[in-house]
Amino acid sequence: MKRSGPASLPVRSAPTAPAANRPRPAFPVRLDTAPAAPISKPGATSAGAVRSAAAPVASTTAPRGVGMDSVAVRQAMVRKLQAQGISHPGVLGAMQAVERHRFVDSALANQAYEDTSLPIGLGQTISKPSVVARMLELLCQGREGRIGRVLDIGTGCGYQAAVLSHLVQEVYSIERLRALHEKARDNLRAFRLANVHLLFGDGMPGYPQGAPYAGIVAAAGGNDVPQAWIEQLAVGGRLVAPVVTDSGQQHLIVIERHAHGFRRSVLEPVLFVPLKSGVS
Ligand code: SAH
Repeated sequence: MKRSGPASLPVRSAPTAPAANRPRPAFPVRLDTAPAAPISKPGATSAGAVRSAAAPVASTTAPRGVGMDSVAVRQAMVRKLQAQGISHPGVLGAMQAVERHRFVDSALANQAYEDTSLPIGLGQTISKPSVVARMLELLCQGREGRIGRVLDIGTGCGYQAAVLSHLVQEVYSIERLRALHEKARDNLRAFRLANVHLLFGDGMPGYPQGAPYAGIVAAAGGNDVPQAWIEQLAVGGRLVAPVVTDSGQQHLIVIERHAHGFRRSVLEPVLFVPLKSGVS
């Protein structure tokens, strides 16, 4: 079913004090079968997003695909990430912990630990490990321990959300393609990650119910960062996203929110799928 994005919904104005660690807001228990019209009741899913739990569900899923010791293969992947300049211990630990081969088609599982993006269906791709590690390192840079709530835009197959779950207190991950949202839910079930909240909806307006965020990370790039994301960033928070710059090429950008303003840095060129409006 198609729905257009709730473009006219009010976006909560950003708070003036850091509050990214306050208790997360109450949600309706499950809204998987919610009506198609955007819901705007306080505490409901007014961003057009529909929340569904990734966990906990008992599972006996056996590792599939890699006919090798995946711990050792991931160690080799992590060593390569270190050689490429990733040094954040939490990020390296999370990349070591999450079994990437569980997020790709079994026919591609033998490539899961190569530094390559892979198709996940519907024309979308799982980002390559070095890009995931780089973005999460930028997100966590200069911050000790787990950071607070993070909004992950573009759940895709759920891999990055799983990596994030090791680094932050709560992950809100939003996906505009229902089939991928469901695939991510299936992929994540066996991991029993109680701090990952999967949302089906358009991430363009962010997800105001969870704001302010200690971090926002996007796996799809547009011509600019939606204003709503900037407004939903906590003071001290950081946003990492691909954006098409004046050169016509996508670059990673970082926006940091300080007490009295924002600082924007343009980093290296990248290649992400496009950020699109609405759901499908
Ligand atoms: N982090 C993902 C990468 C998926 S690719 C992973 O680990 O697999 C990027 C995803 O962003 C795609 O699934 C695409 O459908 C989604 N996307 C693009 N625009 C979006 C939007 N406005 N809201 C939510 N998701 C969006």
